[in-house]
Amino acid sequence: MIEDSIREEFPILGREVNGKPLIYLDNVATSQTPRVVVEEIARLYGTSKANVHRGVHTLSQEATELQEECRRRVQRHINAESHEEIIFTRGTTEAINLVASSYGQRFRDGDEIILTVMEHHANIVPWQLIGNHADVKIRVVDINERGELDLEQYRSLFNERTVMAAFCHVSNVLGTQNPVKDMIATAHAHGVPVLVDGAQASPHLRIDVRDLDCDFYVFSAHKMYGPTGVGVLYGRKRLLEEMPPYQGGGEMIKHVTFEKTTYAELPFKFEAGTPDFIGIAAFAKAFDFLDRIGLENIEAHELELLRYTTSLLTELEGVHIYGTAPGKGPVISFNVGNAHNYDVGLLLDRLGVAVRTGHHCAQPLMERLGVPGTVRAGFAVYNTKEECDSFVAALKRIMPMLM
Ligand code: PLP
Repeated sequence: MIEDSIREEFPILGREVNGKPLIYLDNVATSQTPRVVVEEIARLYGTSKANVHRGVHTLSQEATELQEECRRRVQRHINAESHEEIIFTRGTTEAINLVASSYGQRFRDGDEIILTVMEHHANIVPWQLIGNHADVKIRVVDINERGELDLEQYRSLFNERTVMAAFCHVSNVLGTQNPVKDMIATAHAHGVPVLVDGAQASPHLRIDVRDLDCDFYVFSAHKMYGPTGVGVLYGRKRLLEEMPPYQGGGEMIKHVTFEKTTYAELPFKFEAGTPDFIGIAAFAKAFDFLDRIGLENIEAHELELLRYTTSLLTELEGVHIYGTAPGKGPVISFNVGNAHNYDVGLLLDRLGVAVRTGHHCAQPLMERLGVPGTVRAGFAVYNTKEECDSFVAALKRIMPMLM
């Protein structure tokens, strides 16, 4: 059971919005940050700021050690075989762009990539950018009325031209948790590598990249109670070794002349320039937080809030929920009658409730659902049943104005 004391670790939860206590349900976009992470950022800026990897002096060595400790922390957290398989990026988006632009250099005209209709734009557009050098075709897996992938169609899309399959672990709109382990096995049976977008799974689920047997797994720190500007690309070492660098600059080289440059070993080959080393070091504190509470406890709490709120919303006439797959993650996307999602969001904000509105960076999915957008509420470890009650009460209050 989640204790009240957890809320006290998040100073922002004590603030008011529009004269009402804040009810923060925009956790799918970003979760709030516990004091341990905020304080670590302030401490490092205040006492230990020095650039990593370039200095022999003490501060630089301390900063380097903190960054590399976080790398080992991520490695343990997702059960990667080696710390060399952990690349720090700016977030999920940059991690996918890295794979698409580096691994994607081997793609040729006529090659095919399998995506799903529920992908975030971050897992669509980078693959389209490959079109700048090769005419690659994107094949799309559809969903059923509950928001589950059509796995038969998925299996049927593989052929000798398939060069990559990339899909989310958990949908940021529908909450659907995809059977990624089986989907990876299917792709591997066809000799096709897989990238899993774990942005919405990593805050709630225990990730084991060796058990999943995925080739690439990506996620963002800011959705996991960590700092902004930090993300992770896990890549299978053999593939990362074969891949050309993504960006050039400092840190990623072995030796530079005007004629020729040789590159650093993994993981630095893919980390050009000064990383957000303070953010990375503070990310380690988010893992402390997750481990102290336990991902299993976090997930159980969030799923209880999901079950509770879904049952309350289902009783409201005119509320339509998108995504009802069994085993879905803690996110509810909905619309209220014919009201525009934006109006619902604005009115809820007047009552202190923060939800997300719009297409959620998933325009193809919105088109598939036949709506311009939805209202989205997502739950985190610090949300309470009382907040769910207040959210539904606020919705009841504004519904007569909208319908
Ligand atoms: N993929 C999914 C499923 C997401 O939900 C998000 C963000 O909401 C992203 C990718 C992009 O993450 P970021 O903006 O942190 O790079």
